[in-house]
Amino acid sequence: CLCFGPVVYSFPLDISEEYLTAIRLDQADDQAAGDYNYDQQGDDWEGLCQTGQAQSPIALNVEETEDMYVPRIRFHYYNETLQTPLVLMNNGHTANMVIPPTQLGPRAYINGALLPGNFEAQSVHFHWGSRNSSGVEHLVNYNIERAQVEMHIVHKNTRYATTSEASKHRDGLAVLGVLIRPGRRQNSRNSGLTKIFNRVPRIVQYNTNATINGRLEVAQLLGSVVTGEFFTYNGSLTTPDCAEAVTWIVFPDVLELQYRLIERLFNLRDSRSRPLINNYRDLQDTNGRPIYYRRLPDLPNLV
Ligand SMILES: [Zn+2]
Repeated sequence: CLCFGPVVYSFPLDISEEYLTAIRLDQADDQAAGDYNYDQQGDDWEGLCQTGQAQSPIALNVEETEDMYVPRIRFHYYNETLQTPLVLMNNGHTANMVIPPTQLGPRAYINGALLPGNFEAQSVHFHWGSRNSSGVEHLVNYNIERAQVEMHIVHKNTRYATTSEASKHRDGLAVLGVLIRPGRRQNSRNSGLTKIFNRVPRIVQYNTNATINGRLEVAQLLGSVVTGEFFTYNGSLTTPDCAEAVTWIVFPDVLELQYRLIERLFNLRDSRSRPLINNYRDLQDTNGRPIYYRRLPDLPNLV
């Protein structure tokens, strides 16, 4: 039997030992956070989630940002094909995919912006609402639309060995936040999102996983989102233990995905077999934290 730890998982047989180890580490991090849920949108979470002064998510408004130049984000190996197979899991809190290294060997990573180092892509997951309500975590420019989703691409500072070690340091993690709304805009470049959402019906139950078909690049998750403009600030994980270790980068540009794909998330179940909906945390106080905004440079006038 394929037995790993307290729960029996069945993974595809062609999965590499390295990727399996990364998935198990990610699972262990999630389970170490305890048996939390979204019944009160996080208001009942304890410890740093209650007492922290640099918590996330927060409201982000262009008018309330610091007047300071922010360099662009530099993306490395984002356009390289990832090693396969890729595994999407229902961990009871979200649909989560651990990101393996690229087929070339190195991991996709980012630097630039106000990032204090090089940050490797570790995993991607989603926060959603329900058919009638938005599920975004960051409130960007007062934009609330029905059925919106927030995607988080979690990165780890290369100076730390694991995500859990990185979460103990203020410069440990960087998360890219991308808003997704229902729409029809044709966009072949976010084919990565489509590939992931196509497998969501296979992970309805808690602790189930599914293999994602075909090749995937991390850039395909970002698709056409304008990455030259973004908010950036110091905050926390939006799940327990709410570690204040995250340099957040949130894009005001919104991706569009067909509603028939988004609504698949609303069928997922948590560890209590209840509908896994509204898995977002309430807005937190900024407590005077500076929020920075990168604007696209003005384009020269075309005559
Ligand atoms: Zn998240």
